[in-house]
Amino acid sequence: MGTEVFKGSRKSRRAWAAAQKKYMRPGGLTHLYVKHDDFCELLAVGYLCTCNPTRVLKDDVGRILAVVENAGSYSPLEFLGSGQHD
Ligand SMILES: [Zn+2]
Repeated sequence: MGTEVFKGSRKSRRAWAAAQKKYMRPGGLTHLYVKHDDFCELLAVGYLCTCNPTRVLKDDVGRILAVVENAGSYSPLEFLGSGQHD
């Protein structure tokens, strides 16, 4: 079984970083959704994302704030240190 990790595009990664910075404020209620594909190994092993998920930020009433595609494989470590990930 090949393990492929998607890098995505730099533009998308920057857009995602900018969206988080803009919407994920300390004390704010922002929900983060990462839509993995069914085959993604993150769902099986818990730490290795092998798809290229769509990332979505929503506010506390479910309104979509930002949608970023092709930002590459999602790492659970992405948010360590930010202190804003629930
Ligand atoms: Zn994944």
